[in-house]
Amino acid sequence: MIPKGLFKKANNELESRQVVEEFVEPTQTCPDCGFELTASELKENREVCQKCGHHFRMNARQRIELIADKDSFEELYAGMESVNILDFPGYDEKLRSSKAKSGESEGVIVGRAAIGGYPCVMFIMEPEFMIGSMGTVVGEKITRAFELATEESLPVVGFTVSGGARMQEGILSLMQMAKTSGAVKRHSDAGLLYIVVLTDPTTGGVTASFAMEGDIIFAEPGALVGFAGPRVIEQTIRKKLPKGFQTAEFLLEHGFVDAISPRGVQRDMLVNLLALHCKEI
Ligand SMILES: [Zn+2]
Repeated sequence: MIPKGLFKKANNELESRQVVEEFVEPTQTCPDCGFELTASELKENREVCQKCGHHFRMNARQRIELIADKDSFEELYAGMESVNILDFPGYDEKLRSSKAKSGESEGVIVGRAAIGGYPCVMFIMEPEFMIGSMGTVVGEKITRAFELATEESLPVVGFTVSGGARMQEGILSLMQMAKTSGAVKRHSDAGLLYIVVLTDPTTGGVTASFAMEGDIIFAEPGALVGFAGPRVIEQTIRKKLPKGFQTAEFLLEHGFVDAISPRGVQRDMLVNLLALHCKEI
């Protein structure tokens, strides 16, 4: 039998070629060990390099999935969005592009959740939204999270990632440092637990406020945690900084964090601490 179309002539050059489309999965090179990792491998391994343990940045929704009990997360204040209060040049566009890039309406997600059966209020900052910079809306959502937790006698579990205060909102963003710290203090005065996990990078006004005010402070391996950048400090104090300055490990050695918490054991660490401090429902 003659195969169908055997004597058919190609109509044009393109048609005569057999087009084989191969799906090439995007890869990322680990900045610590140079290992090539595919997107699916990274996702499966909680965005951690399987060879050396380097922790890549992780978005807020992935964190919720990793930490909170299945289907327990109930988002709050999702409709709050920043406006360009000071008419800062380019801020409207920056907000638009950050929303498109991250799929989030702001730099932090807040909600009620349960972790290992223990109810809590969570806040999780989003690296893809202006590196979680703190403007009025981020500050307000964090403050409300602590106020709600205080009212309902719940612990707060937070994940920070931030480039610092949002310069496009000027002094209004700096005010959020005092506002969030006030809410953390009232939560603390009520005898309630606040656990924070510092992730890469946690800097500026966020480090100088609620990020470092936890009762228990964890940091992810290798995370950069600091206030000002190393160059600014060197220029100010006119001294060379030690190696590894501002890494999570350096901070642990110097007593600024309580433990390094790799993603693989993070949930268990939180469940154990909540079990020690809270009542199960
Ligand atoms: Zn690696």
